[in-house]
Amino acid sequence: MYDLVIRNIRLFEGPFQSGLMDLAIEDGHIVERGQHLAGSAKDELSLDGELVIPGFVESHLHLDIALMNSFQVPGREEPYLSHYGLNDTLERRRKEFSEEDIITRAGKAVEMALRHGVTAIRAQCHVDPQAKFRHLNALLAVKEQNKERMFIQLVGFPQQGLLQHKGTLDLFREAFKLGLDVMGCAPNLDRGVSYKEHIDAALELAVELDVELDAHVDLGIPWEIDWEDLEITYLARRTKDRNYAGRVTAGHVCALGSIKPEYVGKVFELIKAAGVNIISQPDMYRLGRDDRQHVRRGLTRVKELLAAGINVAFASNNVRDVLRPMGNFDLLEEGLILAYGAHMDTVSELEAILKMCTYNAARILSLPSYGLDVGNKADLVVLNASSPSSAIVDQAEKRYVIKSGRVAVVNTHQNMPGLA
Ligand SMILES: [Zn+2]
Repeated sequence: MYDLVIRNIRLFEGPFQSGLMDLAIEDGHIVERGQHLAGSAKDELSLDGELVIPGFVESHLHLDIALMNSFQVPGREEPYLSHYGLNDTLERRRKEFSEEDIITRAGKAVEMALRHGVTAIRAQCHVDPQAKFRHLNALLAVKEQNKERMFIQLVGFPQQGLLQHKGTLDLFREAFKLGLDVMGCAPNLDRGVSYKEHIDAALELAVELDVELDAHVDLGIPWEIDWEDLEITYLARRTKDRNYAGRVTAGHVCALGSIKPEYVGKVFELIKAAGVNIISQPDMYRLGRDDRQHVRRGLTRVKELLAAGINVAFASNNVRDVLRPMGNFDLLEEGLILAYGAHMDTVSELEAILKMCTYNAARILSLPSYGLDVGNKADLVVLNASSPSSAIVDQAEKRYVIKSGRVAVVNTHQNMPGLA
């Protein structure tokens, strides 16, 4: 007897138009897939052609600072000054954080994300001489508390650089012994240190410890920049030199939009040769604020990167914190924002958006057994949608979220996140 059978569904993988399918689940895994499956189950969901996708993957989320703003009155309390101005505010306000605060907020964030169908998160976590392991200890506790219902991978985010304060690299070595999973990189936060030195330090430590590297690069949007001066160009070259293909991810990459179109292919070749993954964050919100006419949107070249065969995902990045006062850990919502920003509106482009926050993002986290094939982990979302493009355009309700083969969430309009 199966643990759970889901009947009369459309599957995101394969020819989903070809007819309604059933999925059978046992011991947390998909064990059968076909039409009109025989056999009984302890639980059964009998549906009406809803779209089933593998769980959403939040590939870049600052979980330790998420929800630090007022939950009841969301929105920015202080004016938007500059990226550095916001960072100073973050540094000041995070001094008030205790481990308990972070655990409470991150726990609520995990709850909200799960209700929106997220089943895996790559979480950025401050590691620096001032915060030391306060954020890490808190997120390790959240990871443990939620291990049955959310896969969490922790990236050490160098909030105060890697080289500007002596001893920071040793602090990271210690953090990996405590349970950190992935090395972080943020050249813009290492004051007085060149981006090349910062990237080298981060990549060398990742190679030394045999862990993946997750980098913030090219966060600005200069009016023009030489392709050789992009941080992604340097990161891709160094990744190739170190034979670290497939183990490096670069977020933001906004300045890629500022190079002359005739050189874009050269950068793409380097990214492909180095096997670097790209994540687009909602940078439209942050960038172009000083422009007085034709405000730049500040997104990376999402469509062109996808067309070049590079693995591209998108992620929430900041949710209701100093850096972005909006967000719901809802990748359908972020996907719609991306659709507008990146001019992705054909049926196949909207389908690509749904793939970016599922399959492409899962590749970045190296999630094992991900997808709708028999034998894979049963982390699934039943969307009240008839096709991938309708999931985005309708902002489909996530009727059921299934984690490790068990129905973890049943959503109705009454219990959608944020309304309680
Ligand atoms: Zn980030």
